[in-house]
Amino acid sequence: MAEDKQFNAPAADRPERGERRSAAPAPRGRFQRRRVCAFCADKIENIDYKDINTLRRFISEQGQIESRRRTGTCARHQRRLTLAVKRARFLALLPYTAEHVRRYGG
Ligand SMILES: [Zn+2]
Repeated sequence: MAEDKQFNAPAADRPERGERRSAAPAPRGRFQRRRVCAFCADKIENIDYKDINTLRRFISEQGQIESRRRTGTCARHQRRLTLAVKRARFLALLPYTAEHVRRYGG
């Protein structure tokens, strides 16, 4: 039987023709975020509106609730977080807006 050695030929290495690839892919976003939701990771089912320290992590400097894109919170927990923040605001545990915005206007 004839031996087939044709497919054993090593793939030819192509010499580079001055084509330069950028070493690292451009980092997207502001910084690397974990993809997992913080509440899912901690296995928190219901978000406590009295837990200000936790809620505060999810509101911006202006007092706005941070978007899912920025915090990585899942849809389910984002809904609960929103509710919790609004309750906390009603009880004056969290601000509706930043103080300087209140004082001097947007
Ligand atoms: Zn979650």
